[in-house]
Amino acid sequence: MNKALILVVEDDPSVRNLMTTTLKTHDYRYITASTGEGAVMEACTHNPDIVMLDLGLPDTDGVEVIKRIRSWSDMPIIVISARTEDSDKISALDSGADDYLTKPFSVEELLARLRVINRRLNAAKDGTVSSLFINGELKIDFAAGCAYMSDKELHLTPIEYKLLCLMAKNVGKVLTHTYIMQNVWGANWDNDVASLRVFMATLRKKLEKSSSGSLSYIQTHVGIGYRMIKADNN
Ligand code: CA
Repeated sequence: MNKALILVVEDDPSVRNLMTTTLKTHDYRYITASTGEGAVMEACTHNPDIVMLDLGLPDTDGVEVIKRIRSWSDMPIIVISARTEDSDKISALDSGADDYLTKPFSVEELLARLRVINRRLNAAKDGTVSSLFINGELKIDFAAGCAYMSDKELHLTPIEYKLLCLMAKNVGKVLTHTYIMQNVWGANWDNDVASLRVFMATLRKKLEKSSSGSLSYIQTHVGIGYRMIKADNN
């Protein structure tokens, strides 16, 4: 019990039923909306823990819904879209969505995404503002500016360290190329995805070389961006 309240926004009744049945079976509480206007109203009224949002809605575009919710809340939003175009996912993520699922999706996939966000919410509720980030074998001491893998210090360049910290602070969340470049390079950012790819590849190599497990901490979302995976043991 005590599971999160999920707002399901979906205009297709069969998909909506699949989702609510899944949520019910797994003890989640839920409310539903089938339009963009309805979604914003339900989000305002019930302040759900997580929003699962279809992008193709009959009245407003899902991206518009994200922007409106983001104007007053940082509640996690998982976008669910039949659209395969990367540009839709990118604009949803850049507007503040936390993650995305592409239709058709499996029930296991849906539940896995919810678990990741739930863990992050619970960690945030603990209120422990720590200068230490621990994810599996990866450890970052923000105060000291050092990162470790299996207790061995990682020798990172300033850019690699900044990339790692940005990914860590957003663990479980897909970050778009644009978001990463703006945050790592700041005002001097350049739309240079090729360089970002090179930095990411060397960072990933350093992480994998020192790790004793097989977990790949940084996941590539082709054409979209990157996500740091949350290790299961914490
Ligand atoms: Ca739809």
